[in-house]
Amino acid sequence: MSDYPSLHMLIDGDKITGGSRRTFDVINPATGETIADLPLAGSDDLDRALEAADAGFATWRKSTPDERSKVLRGAARLMRERQESIARAATLEEGKPLAESRAEVMFAAELFEFYAGECYRTYGRELVRPAGKRASVRHEPVGPVAAFAPWNFPVINPARKLGGPIAAGCSVILKSAEETPASALAMVQALHDAELPPNVAQAVFGVPDEVSRHLLASPIVRKLSFTGSVEVGKHLSKLAADNMLRTTMELGGHGPVLVFGDVEMGRVLDTVVAAKRRNCGQVCISPTRFIVAEERFEEFRDGFVERIAATRVGNGLDKDTQMGPMANDRRPEAMERFVADARDKGAQVDTGGSRIGNRGYFFEPTVISEAPLEAEVMSEEPFGPLALINSYAGEEAMIAEANRLPFGLAAYAWTNDAERQRRLADGIEAGMVGINTAGVSAPDAPFGGVKWSGHGSEDGPEGVLACMVVKAVHEG
Ligand code: NAD
Repeated sequence: MSDYPSLHMLIDGDKITGGSRRTFDVINPATGETIADLPLAGSDDLDRALEAADAGFATWRKSTPDERSKVLRGAARLMRERQESIARAATLEEGKPLAESRAEVMFAAELFEFYAGECYRTYGRELVRPAGKRASVRHEPVGPVAAFAPWNFPVINPARKLGGPIAAGCSVILKSAEETPASALAMVQALHDAELPPNVAQAVFGVPDEVSRHLLASPIVRKLSFTGSVEVGKHLSKLAADNMLRTTMELGGHGPVLVFGDVEMGRVLDTVVAAKRRNCGQVCISPTRFIVAEERFEEFRDGFVERIAATRVGNGLDKDTQMGPMANDRRPEAMERFVADARDKGAQVDTGGSRIGNRGYFFEPTVISEAPLEAEVMSEEPFGPLALINSYAGEEAMIAEANRLPFGLAAYAWTNDAERQRRLADGIEAGMVGINTAGVSAPDAPFGGVKWSGHGSEDGPEGVLACMVVKAVHEG
């Protein structure tokens, strides 16, 4: 495909291609066709990446805030300039509409610009001591970071994995998803072109289990940063424990949306339906469980079905497309399983429920209502265009349903009652709560979860501090 770039790894500034290396077929999910071959790392490549990260950390930890800030601002400028080519590559490899890919590039640039400012603000503190004595608390970079990013936000996920460590003075080995390598490479390339020393950021690809075992077993790595499923997150946490690594874990969710009786329904529906369509529901903060006050349940469900059934599904490169294909063949299979199981257990499928066509990985926007709690999809993250709508009696029951699962990433509530808004902000167990909004992610705000959704944050000042350790210095 002419406008999809050729692929390589980036180790110590060298572009690593081919040779006797194994390769991975990168597929366009809108067509099911292979668009490129990706070389995969062997253990020699990973050792080289580790050595480079070790040397890179030794110099970058001594860099000034000015130097770090300049690199991040420079990379952000290049990302803006290259927005169109990065966005096209992201859509070709992941499937999302081009407008969503463009927005990803913009968010990544804004995040780097925010982090560029944070380089100057990793303050410690001076402790109160008698005259002649001093004690202080400092933040220091934790060390080389092994970072694993998934395919659903091919631009933003790698940007988050790179920006925090680089602002903090760490080096980083990024293994982004093999399904979406071009966008990740574009992020690393922008940093290199902005004069980041080449050994500070490496991009490798490989068999995920081989790469993570190799990197996390090395004494060089000091931190694990992972975004992905709870299951893999738990597995990697155990590997990280052997070397007592710092961890940032951004895992799955099952976003509750509480809709109370006092809302202006048209506005709520327009907002939540657009949020549900986003990236075909393959978003860790996607709204999934719609918990609706019983007196407005039918109105909400009917309005939701009407709007979502009108979604223009198609190739993400077509300008009219509102929702692209799913990103890989595992997702439509999972959707079919969830729908069949929910039906078997007595749920109603109000719209959708099937694949679209036999080319690519398209799936209909789907609404399931009155699903019993035993339906698998009521407890497992759908990660697809499925909306679950149920009716509840009273605020207490609605909050109980929101908190029922072991996840706690993003939650949303719609109500105009100010006192209830406060009770919800206090009572919902989640790392991010949106009240009368579907937007819970911003460069200056911590992004992360609680419970099985993980710990640690990306974005905001917290995203930089997560890559630092504290040291107390006492002077007698
Ligand atoms: P998966 O759980 O196998 O993989 C999730 C991610 O982890 C992928 O990027 C994969 O490359 C990586 N991974 C898998 N095993 C790994 C290992 N041993 N070491 C290092 N990295 C590893 O499943 P999948 O089919 O890619 O995605 C399915 C599920 O993952 C979804 O249902 C969703 O729950 C979750 N997911 C979450 C996010 C998120 O943003 N939190 C993103 C993508 C996927």
